[in-house]
Amino acid sequence: VEQELRELEHLKTVSQLAASISHEVRNPLTVTRGFMQILKDATLGEEKRRQYFDLSLEELDRAERIITDYLTFAKPALEQAEPLELNAELRRIVQVILPFASMENIAVEVLPSAEELFVRGEGNRLHQALINVMKNGIEATPAGGRLTIRLLRVDGRPVLIIEDSGEGMDEDQLKLLGTPYYTTKDKGTGLGTMVAFSILRAMEADIEVDSVPGRGTRFILSFPAEAD
Ligand code: ADP
Ligand code: MG
Repeated sequence: VEQELRELEHLKTVSQLAASISHEVRNPLTVTRGFMQILKDATLGEEKRRQYFDLSLEELDRAERIITDYLTFAKPALEQAEPLELNAELRRIVQVILPFASMENIAVEVLPSAEELFVRGEGNRLHQALINVMKNGIEATPAGGRLTIRLLRVDGRPVLIIEDSGEGMDEDQLKLLGTPYYTTKDKGTGLGTMVAFSILRAMEADIEVDSVPGRGTRFILSFPAEAD
């Protein structure tokens, strides 16, 4: 199955995305605030009290997951796009991914390119994007599986391939991949891939996803050829 993913229509830029995500984080906080207000009531029964506590914790966990998927590496100040060397960036990103992979007993194989590969972007955003894609690969892969990350140049373009030996996706699932709030996980946010794709599109990367159910998934990210 091979598919060029289409442009997200209503979330064209990373800044529009930010507005949507702030809204999503505000919801659980508002709900939790409401529960706290109720919990102030001294006459509230023990069972109700526990119920509101548990709901509050769940809502706060949700806010935390949204922030993890969206904001882990974002800085408050606006950064400018700058030249980034992909092999060097990858070394930093893998440092973050390795503990997570070993916890799930997934082997991570990194195959850097012999030459330097430059792209233009904001380092922290690129990290956010790639960590979201790699985390999904690990989460989709049963223990004992493998995540392979490869860098190469194809027709002058820097290309990053992220491949997992996980559960894969069928054609319908592939169509939904990257749409807001699409998740198949109990505690998923359905935001990680949308965030990743938005950041990569802002860098003018082409995104190709090949997936075979039961076999695995491969993301092929092709960045613009370096300008002289
Ligand atoms: P979340 O991880 O919170 O579910 P994402 O937007 O990161 O949200 O991913 C959306 C969905 O896409 C996942 O729930 C999963 O079903 C599917 N998915 C993403 N990456 C992969 C992958 N590498 N292999 C299989 N399924 C994937
Ligand atoms: Mg995810």
